Amino acid sequence: MKAAVVNSHHHVDVVDKKLRPLEHGEALLSMECCGVCHTDLHVKNGDFGDKTGVILGHEGIGVVKEIGPGVSSLKVGDRASVAWFFEGCGHCEYCTSGNETLCRNVKNAGYTVDGGMAEECIVVADYAVKVPDGLDSAAASSVTCAGVTTYKAVKVSEIKPGQWIAIYGLGGLGNLALQYAKNVFNAKVIAVDVNDKQLAFAKEMGADLVINSRTEDAAKFIQEKTGGAHAAVVTAVAKAAFNSAVDAVRAGARVVAVGLPPESMSLDIPRLVLDGIQVVGSLVGTRKDLTEAFQFAAEGKVVPKVTRRPIEDINTIFEEMEQGKIQGRMVIDFGQK
Ligand SMILES: [Zn+2]
Ligand SMILES: [Zn+2]
Repeated sequence: MKAAVVNSHHHVDVVDKKLRPLEHGEALLSMECCGVCHTDLHVKNGDFGDKTGVILGHEGIGVVKEIGPGVSSLKVGDRASVAWFFEGCGHCEYCTSGNETLCRNVKNAGYTVDGGMAEECIVVADYAVKVPDGLDSAAASSVTCAGVTTYKAVKVSEIKPGQWIAIYGLGGLGNLALQYAKNVFNAKVIAVDVNDKQLAFAKEMGADLVINSRTEDAAKFIQEKTGGAHAAVVTAVAKAAFNSAVDAVRAGARVVAVGLPPESMSLDIPRLVLDGIQVVGSLVGTRKDLTEAFQFAAEGKVVPKVTRRPIEDINTIFEEMEQGKIQGRMVIDFGQK
């Protein structure tokens, strides 16, 4: 079977690979598609350590072709996911308290174990989340990473219906955060970005207020218009956005960090203490979060923007990604030859 494998020159080879036989608790997926994520770019470039030989991909959707001994959660013919949260240990304090993504012995697809950017992929059946009927596989692949990450972040923000939520960064992640906030949590959304094109798209997707933070003081504007947002989700990768988000919210609000700029943010301690502001990080989502995120997408409340590409395009896609040319998600389609 064809697989996208990282080579020692920070490139990806599409090679013919044979998978080992299934072990207890595993299932073999015949992959339908797999999204290409910024994280894959980091893995391929060796930013998280040398990963030569690993099969990329953590936004995979496939159909169960075979199940190993002891599998009861999946059957042949089911559609299931290959997500970044590939497997937890199952017994630590995080795994047993609804925080399994924080497991210290976590396995990540396309990083610690072979991922879904291949015609076939072995998954741990209990950790592969079933995709509901009515949700297209390419759209589902996007929900597996960007979708669940933003759904979880909005959930963590504790936003209530009718309240204002500020979303900083309206790229691939932010746009999905906007849709979940608006269409699932019934919040009023303030979209903040430095790019007018992204803001126009956010407006189209239902943002109630849009602000270009390059030309306007976003925090000041939000305070004036809304009295301060009830929550903020920051998907932007600039520390200025994090600082602005803290200034944009009202007392008692939560600021949820999703983007990963390499810097520190400035936190005014009296502001935190006196106004009871909470700043909290949110990392991907649990299997339960993914089940919910899939369901809302299947109901049409969230529509990821995807473009199908053949696996042979993988290095070109990474080049386009590095040049910032990609809008929405590029999805490797294994039906395309
Ligand atoms: Zn991803
Ligand atoms: Zn664990």
